[in-house]
Amino acid sequence: MLSSDPTPTVAIVGAGHAGGTLAGLLRQHEYEGHVVLFGDEEHPPYHRPPLSKKYTGSEYVQWLRPQSFYADNDIDVRLGDPVVRIDRADRTVTTAAGVTTTYSTLVLATGAAPRKLTVLGSDLNGVATLRTLGDTEMLRDAVHSNAEIAIVGGGYVGLEVAASARAHGCNVTIIEREDRVLSRVAGPDLAKALTTFHRDRGTRILTGAHVAGFIGTDGKVNGVELSDGTVVPCALALVGVGAVPNDDLARAAGIICEAGIVVDSTARTDDPNILAIGDVTYRMHDTLGKMVRLESIPSAVEQAKHAAAVIVGASVPQHEVPWFWSDQFDLKMKMAGMVSPDATAVVRGNPADSSFAVFHLDGSGIPVAVETVNAAAEFMAGKKYIGNHTKIDPVALADTSISLREVTL
Ligand SMILES: Cc1cc2nc3c(=O)[nH]c(=O)nc-3n(C[C@H](O)[C@H](O)[C@H](O)COP(=O)(O)OP(=O)(O)OC[C@H]3O[C@@H](n4cnc5c(N)ncnc54)[C@H](O)[C@@H]3O)c2cc1C
Repeated sequence: MLSSDPTPTVAIVGAGHAGGTLAGLLRQHEYEGHVVLFGDEEHPPYHRPPLSKKYTGSEYVQWLRPQSFYADNDIDVRLGDPVVRIDRADRTVTTAAGVTTTYSTLVLATGAAPRKLTVLGSDLNGVATLRTLGDTEMLRDAVHSNAEIAIVGGGYVGLEVAASARAHGCNVTIIEREDRVLSRVAGPDLAKALTTFHRDRGTRILTGAHVAGFIGTDGKVNGVELSDGTVVPCALALVGVGAVPNDDLARAAGIICEAGIVVDSTARTDDPNILAIGDVTYRMHDTLGKMVRLESIPSAVEQAKHAAAVIVGASVPQHEVPWFWSDQFDLKMKMAGMVSPDATAVVRGNPADSSFAVFHLDGSGIPVAVETVNAAAEFMAGKKYIGNHTKIDPVALADTSISLREVTL
């Protein structure tokens, strides 16, 4: 795009869920300027959640939009060429291939990348992470050949991969450093129920287990060595120990970053011409009343809506209570709010029946989080009560014979 072109340009860096959603929303808002979407992957935006839940491989990928959508909507998609530099004074971005584009508004939607382990053997073939469509190829091959799989990290992605791999008949071992799975993101009741559920289906779960290194022959992994000397044999070691924000580009440009690119509640960075959305952001969340870095589709979509509204001058929609989902075997889980160790957990339903909810109530009986397993009504009610700061009677809540409408105070 020539800098003499008077038409405004929104440059979106990152052709993932947030960036792809924003590009479409701008056209829905009838934005008439140029929209340029830069991606370092070779693919247009696609859904990442199925990557850990289904071993589909690229031929069955779930695209965010039909392939024709971008051309039909005059969205200039430039793939396979990362943006490597932002010049804030000139308002330009430059890609690795040396293409420079002038922007009126820049939106950083660069997402997050899997945290890597630096222990011995981490570079062996077969030590993998999972974030992109390309990453699924190795995993799919391993699963379809019934390989033995070790998963380092008992987070949601690790548990989802374990469930999918077990469903295909693979031997699976989860190696978790903490004393329970999901220690960062879920309460102990849900973690305990899921541990039992996975173990009952044949997954080995080791907790308090520290990875000393990966071992292998001829450059290929064949085991994970723990600090107590135990070796977990495997043909594939999937490392799922969280993600780090892709904020290098922003940091290099002097944009304020902390646990990600710092944005206010309307996706604005400290530069008035630059917004940031999605997993890369450390955002002010009005409903939670604090700064958070969320990694979820609903959050990416919400911030894309905020950015679109800011760009076209529309009113910014109110913040939703943060939520996300996870599927493991036949368990459909939905979680809302933020689990806090200070809250009191109230279990509604029986975890052994695979249909239950855990409400987390603060000192005044107001829920701050709800975790649900095959319990859609509890999810809807819990999310509403969190958003409305509704006081709950914990005794009534724990009694499933009392309707969810009658548990409020
Ligand atoms: C395996 C897996 C399962 C998941 N399951 C769920 C789920 O069940 N529910 C849920 O709510 N969320 C889930 N998530 C999280 C969800 O996918 C993310 O929150 C969402 O994709 C975030 O969107 P984003 O656009 O911020 O980041 P991304 O979708 O990661 O997109 C960012 C894009 O920017 C690109 N990029 C980075 N730097 C540059 C650059 N300099 N130039 C050009 N491009 C660049 C990246 O390569 C990437 O393509 C899952 C994630 C994974 C990996």
